[in-house]
Amino acid sequence: MSRVVITGGTVVDQSGSRAGDVAIEDGRIVEVGTGLSGDRVLDATGCIVSPGFVDLHVHLREPGKEEAETIETGSRAAALGGFTAVVAMPNTDPAQDSVAVVEFVRQQGRRAGLCEVLPSGCITIGRNGDALAPFGELAAAGVHLFTDDGNGVQDPQLMRHALEYAGPLGIVLAQHCEVAALTKGAVMHEGSCCSRLGLPGWPALAEELMLFRDIELVRLTGVPMHFLHLSTARSVELVRRAKADGLPVTAEATPHHFTLTDEMLDTYDAVYKVNPPLRTRADIDALKAGLADGTIDAIATDHAPHAPHTKEAPLDQAPPGMLGLETAFALANTELDLPIERVLAVLSWQPAAIAGVADRHGRPVQVGEPANLAVIDPSHEWTVEPTRLASKSRNTPYAGRVVRGKVRHTIFGGEPVVVDGNATR
Ligand SMILES: [Zn+2]
Repeated sequence: MSRVVITGGTVVDQSGSRAGDVAIEDGRIVEVGTGLSGDRVLDATGCIVSPGFVDLHVHLREPGKEEAETIETGSRAAALGGFTAVVAMPNTDPAQDSVAVVEFVRQQGRRAGLCEVLPSGCITIGRNGDALAPFGELAAAGVHLFTDDGNGVQDPQLMRHALEYAGPLGIVLAQHCEVAALTKGAVMHEGSCCSRLGLPGWPALAEELMLFRDIELVRLTGVPMHFLHLSTARSVELVRRAKADGLPVTAEATPHHFTLTDEMLDTYDAVYKVNPPLRTRADIDALKAGLADGTIDAIATDHAPHAPHTKEAPLDQAPPGMLGLETAFALANTELDLPIERVLAVLSWQPAAIAGVADRHGRPVQVGEPANLAVIDPSHEWTVEPTRLASKSRNTPYAGRVVRGKVRHTIFGGEPVVVDGNATR
């Protein structure tokens, strides 16, 4: 049995911060202390040893669009980003609305062996918004998060039934908030920038109306709900009030929504097209305030790879979405004015709880716990270079940007899957 030791770092988790080496055997942490030795030593000088990150929102494109990403390449990008678990969105082809498809996704994740791939399930069959997916069967197969991501569930009566069905099963419904009737043909945020460029707009209201409706459905049913990729200042305020009312709601924000504004579309470059769209400086400030005061529970990437030829199409034809896994920690570390403990909370243990994997991810770094860890250097500056990313696609909006904070090692199930910034498999 080999013993891996992470030496010279500072452990930071939900119970605080302390210097210490971490020894791992057989998938678990067996010792935390000073002067530890082992068969394999990973240097963590100047680094933070954190519980591994959990991404509630990734598109791995398999099955169906393997030219953009596979579960293996997406898992590698995740590991390089410090993630030990990712929730795979269900807008695959076929969609993740049956036990056969979710089992396939989970198996491909196991085969890659770089992080835990947690398949989500659809709320409606085929994500068509007509009939509910078989929640009971999917829950029995281990699915915890259900969403039609890419689409919001438009019918309020169907959404009410979905919550009533979900409640006794203990599963969580996650909404992509978008009233489709308000966003037909939309390319970017509806605002002054959009009218100047003459492009069709995606109004903030389209997100806020569905969010308001669903908060009221949570109030009616008492069933928990998670809100995906919130992007507007009023959305943050709606969630803040819902939480003040004691409602069981959680929410996530993406790095692109707290770092980029709609003005990026001045370039007409489809790399900046995303759904929901990039918004305004005031929305960025509100998202940051929401992350700071606990209104927003998690940073999720909405990692959305697209093959190059599709993103080279004109704005109105190019698909929305951008890469996120390999830059998330650096952007949070660089752009959020938060103590590192808060950054780690929204990247690790808080999303682990929402994903239903708090028994094995986002655990405190202590003896007996599963060894799912990220070792990060918070002061390491680097330049984002699309060609150096592990994702199969290149659609990052951060090409050439200098960021601070890099993942040095990632330990998944006790195995070093990233060592010195390189994937080991
Ligand atoms: Zn979405």
